[in-house]
Amino acid sequence: MKLTCNLEIVNRQLLAGRNITSRGKSQHCVLSIGKQSVKDNELYLLLQTRSNSSGTKYKVKNNIENVFTKFVSDGKSTIRLKEPAIDLTIKCTNAIELKSFLHILKLGLEDKLHTSILSVSNLNPKKINPPPKKKVTIKSKADYPVFKGFPRTTEELYLCGLNRKSFDRQILRLQSLRILDLSNNSLSSLPKEIGTLPHLKSLHLGQNEFGAVENFNTWSWLNHINIQNNLQLLDLSENHLKYLPKQIGKLSKLVTLSLNKNELKILPASIGRLLSLTYLNVAHNLLTSLPGSIMNLRLESFNIFGNFQNNPDESSVSFNSIPTLKEFGARSVVNNRLNYNAATIPFTLVQYLDDAKLCPCGNSCFDIYIHKIVRRDPRQFATLTVSSMSVLYVPFSCTFCCTKCADTLKLQT
Ligand SMILES: [Zn+2]
Repeated sequence: MKLTCNLEIVNRQLLAGRNITSRGKSQHCVLSIGKQSVKDNELYLLLQTRSNSSGTKYKVKNNIENVFTKFVSDGKSTIRLKEPAIDLTIKCTNAIELKSFLHILKLGLEDKLHTSILSVSNLNPKKINPPPKKKVTIKSKADYPVFKGFPRTTEELYLCGLNRKSFDRQILRLQSLRILDLSNNSLSSLPKEIGTLPHLKSLHLGQNEFGAVENFNTWSWLNHINIQNNLQLLDLSENHLKYLPKQIGKLSKLVTLSLNKNELKILPASIGRLLSLTYLNVAHNLLTSLPGSIMNLRLESFNIFGNFQNNPDESSVSFNSIPTLKEFGARSVVNNRLNYNAATIPFTLVQYLDDAKLCPCGNSCFDIYIHKIVRRDPRQFATLTVSSMSVLYVPFSCTFCCTKCADTLKLQT
């Protein structure tokens, strides 16, 4: 029985008398349990590391003081040996393998281990594979692993400046992927399956062509629950974007959003739902106003430089009719953050709810609202990184849920 794990050897004699815990470094190793030869009945633990591939043997019988298994379900355990006085602190990514290894060890200690389980070859040193590759950077087209593919263990993938026009579907197999950097290529879309990657936290798409061809499917990858619940960074700068989909407001964990150097004239009001958003860059677009919902956010960095060259459409819309039951129902679903999706309610209602307008008070509204352009100093709710603006008061395109909200904001300006 062999166990591939990370292991730290803690020398208890060295630590004795000193009030410190071990700070040794754990190393990648193979731990085996077995016998030396057919005739020899003595059971050993063999520890092999990359620097010591022939391994070190430790007797098992009457030599194990304790086995600590409190955290075995997390893949952690410690085997305390008597001679030498060391602790083998094991970390294993596969908790089940660790459990079965410790089970074999226990049987061995109780002399219940059937000889057939432990073949003689068990203690022959095994070749130790290098630790799995987690970060992959491809710097030129010639280095691109077209046939070989990327290691399945890849967590960070950097494919910048390779002039790629199509998305490489091999990437969809990388279930551990956390960072994907496709900056400076010629991509115009992503497959919807990218939204299913379970751990993707950072997606760098700057300097591509996402604004070149825009259709219904361009942004369908934003509809998946995995990306909505995990993505923290989205860079879409320098993409000739004329439009930003409202689904962006569903990326509930988003902290950083870069949209600088595009051709956006408006931002979707749903941006005001990104309550984790801290860094927002919309510099150098064609914005005439900002959605009023942005006032709900607490941004640490907000770059709006190079916008507001043209005046916004000042026409104000006011609806004073009586709200319908649908309006009341939809408002309370969104205001109470109830979960909804096409599995529980009709798809047309999902779309209706997704189109909620946000009042600066934080509440939503649908068909009954008051629209006005309100000029505010954005420094009141955000730290501006670039403040050398010709206009101090920025136009906000606000939809208000009621006349009270509309009057309150007017008074403040
Ligand atoms: Zn309101």
